[in-house]
Parts: sequence; C-alpha cells; structure tokens
Amino acid sequence: MRRKFIAGNWKMFNGPKATSEFLNKFDAEIKAAPEVQKAVADGKEEIAFFVPAVSLLTAVCGAKEMPVIIGAQNTHWEKSGAFTGEISVPMITEIGATHVLIGHSERRHIFREIDEELNKKVHAAVEGGLTAVLCVGETLEERESGKAFEVIKRQFVEGLKGMEGKTVAEKVIVAYEPVWAIGTGKTASDADAEEICKFIRGLAAESYCAKTADELIVLYGGSVKPENTKGIISQPDIDGVLVGGASLKPESFIQIVKNAL
Ligand code: PEP
Repeated sequence: MRRKFIAGNWKMFNGPKATSEFLNKFDAEIKAAPEVQKAVADGKEEIAFFVPAVSLLTAVCGAKEMPVIIGAQNTHWEKSGAFTGEISVPMITEIGATHVLIGHSERRHIFREIDEELNKKVHAAVEGGLTAVLCVGETLEERESGKAFEVIKRQFVEGLKGMEGKTVAEKVIVAYEPVWAIGTGKTASDADAEEICKFIRGLAAESYCAKTADELIVLYGGSVKPENTKGIISQPDIDGVLVGGASLKPESFIQIVKNAL
C-alpha cells in the first residue's frame, strides 16, 4: 500500500519570519486534527513543505517537533564550486532538509532548465541522500497538439536516465503538473489527471519493472484546493498532491491534508 504524500510548494513566498508564523499556525491545526496525526504516525500519509532556500533553516528548526517534512525547491548538481546564486545537495542536507523539487515547470520554462541538467540534479540529490520530487508536465500547446504523452515520456525517461528501479521506487517521487493548470485556477479533470498518472506508472513498469511501478509515488499538481482534493486523491494512480497557492494558508492546506486522508 503506497503512502499518501501531500506537499506544499511555497515558490518565492514566505521568508524566515513568515515561515515561523506559518509553522506555528500549522502546528496548532495539526494538534487539533488527531486523524492527521494518526495517519502520519501510521506511515499512511506524509506532509511536506518545499520552502525558499533562505527559509530552509527556519523551517527545519520550526518543524522539529512537527510531523512534517521540509524540502528545498531546487539544487545544483555539483557539491560546491563557482556557481553564484546556487545551493547544493550537501548544503540542503546539512540544514536537515530531506527532499528537493527537481524540474518544477517554473524552473523548466522560466529558467530554461533542460532534461539533461535535471537528470544530473536527480542523481546528485539521490546520491546525497535526498528524496527527489521530479516534476513533469505538458504545456497547453503540447496538449492541444496531441503531444502530452510524448512530452511526459521524454521528461520521465530523460529525467531518470541511469537510475535503478529500486532507487526510483525508494528515493524518487514523480509529480505530474500540467503547465496549463499551475497557478491558473484550471484543474485537470480527475479523469485527465488519472490518465497521465497511470501513464507515468506504466512508464515506470516499462523502464524498470512492475514492482517499481507499483511502489512509485505519483502526485498531481495544478490548482489543487480543498474542494477538488477528494476527487483527485480518489484516483487509483494518484498518491498525493503538490499544492502551490493553496499551501500558503495554514487553514486551507490542513483542509487539503484532511480531505486527502
Ligand atoms: C505548484 O506550484 O506546483 C502548483 C501546482 O501551483 P498551484 O497549486 O498554485 O497551481
């Protein structure tokens, strides 16, 4: 039985002060939700926040007594070097964060990150002990021209090139985030989201084996809100959600966490 993974991506919101305030409020929400505490303690659900690099230390310290995971939003593939503005896997693990987003659509499209670089980042993350959340997703143009499956396949295969199935199952999470649904208020229908998440699981079976496919955690992201969580999470191949805007308010995000139970 795969665990559920409910994650917030804060993007470029919440500096250290706002991070502390958020976590204090979210802690109170969790304390008032014994069903959430139980699900996490039983290993049935994981809750994660991907926070800006400058807020990582505050988040790790603030969440020490909380049942939440803290992750970074990006990493460089080298351990150190002349890469102004970048952070590395050893820096992230030294702080105590355990996860990292790789290839979020804003990184792919605004910062022009390409599959080859993302593959190096996934390798660096996993070899350095982090869980890598590889984001894949097609643009509206790609969807409308019938290329969605081709694009997802390329991003999956190229992004995970050279990885072993066991490592993928244990240390990689794949998040399907159609670019046209991110921050736009347009959610993919439950059936559309399931179709691609099932396809991703099929790619894992093709590239590795049935066991890897069965164990791989696959998320959906794109305008997830408390109101649409239940429909999305009830799809057989969707194990969780990656939430942008609605993860910025503790009262909305806890509702998503509860609705995903
Ligand atoms: C995201 O940032 O990964 C995301 C899915 O954003 P939103 O929920 O705001 O669409």
